[in-house]
Amino acid sequence: MKIIVAIKQVPERDAQVRIDPVGKWIEELDVQFALNESDAYALEEALQLKEKHGGEVIVISAGPERAGQVIREALAKGADRGIHIEADDLGSRDALGVARLLAAAIQPENPDLVLAGLQSEDLGLGQTGVILAELLGFPHSSLILHVDVTAKGLKVKRELEEGWFQSIELPLPAVLAIQSGGNKLRYATLMGIKRAKTKEVRRASAGELGADASPVVILEGISLPQKQRSTQILPGSPKEASAALVEKLRFEARVL
Ligand SMILES: Cc1cc2nc3c(=O)[nH]c(=O)nc-3n(C[C@H](O)[C@H](O)[C@H](O)COP(=O)(O)OP(=O)(O)OC[C@H]3O[C@@H](n4cnc5c(N)ncnc54)[C@H](O)[C@@H]3O)c2cc1C
Repeated sequence: MKIIVAIKQVPERDAQVRIDPVGKWIEELDVQFALNESDAYALEEALQLKEKHGGEVIVISAGPERAGQVIREALAKGADRGIHIEADDLGSRDALGVARLLAAAIQPENPDLVLAGLQSEDLGLGQTGVILAELLGFPHSSLILHVDVTAKGLKVKRELEEGWFQSIELPLPAVLAIQSGGNKLRYATLMGIKRAKTKEVRRASAGELGADASPVVILEGISLPQKQRSTQILPGSPKEASAALVEKLRFEARVL
């Protein structure tokens, strides 16, 4: 089974972000980057499917030079090879623009299965996997926690709301958007890190792929949330604090 996993590099979750002087993005020099969380789960699902059914796992990422770091991380965890779409213009590409890049690079590979994360941790549009399926002409399903290969194709477990799950079947080739939390993530071993250095990473540019950007402006500007509320701690014993609270509710909030 040939499986391609779309992985995105995003700012680390606890990064202290600052807005750049133009007010259109964050100061990238301040932050560390990491593999998007749901993409790590997509990679884990792909590696487990390969362990059960054989085949090849290829990771693909679009992004500037630094995106090579998440490709190497995935190769160290066990992916067989990587494709790096070198693109510095992702600020002008929405989910359609990125999906066009991914589809152009994926099509010639003729994969059996394409996995994406459910959504990115930075922009969080949650669209790229679904649009990619449309561009490739493959059936798709999202919010996937578990994948089984059957005689007819795939049987997948989807997460619904309030603890409900849905099980559906779909034929191959297909695109799945993977939800976080379905598996235990593996770490890269020392041997894996060494082996990754010898694995192939093919580079392609947006120009070579002939993938148009999209006419949508994804971000007009970004700003920090305005602080509108504050918390007051009422000091003293519980009796004193509740008396002070009643006073405030009566004379400041005027709700008593
Ligand atoms: C100023 C600016 C700078 C930006 N710089 C970057 C950047 O350096 N790198 C970057 O990746 N994006 C960058 N972006 C964001 C980029 O435009 C978004 O990736 C794109 O709009 C898709 O939206 P999303 O990430 O919310 O996708 P979602 O639809 O939430 O992503 C779902 C899944 O699609 C896949 N996916 C999404 N993007 C990629 C990708 N690039 N490569 C491989 N798989 C992917 C992943 O599996 C992901 O989990 C920038 C945006 C702006 C405005």
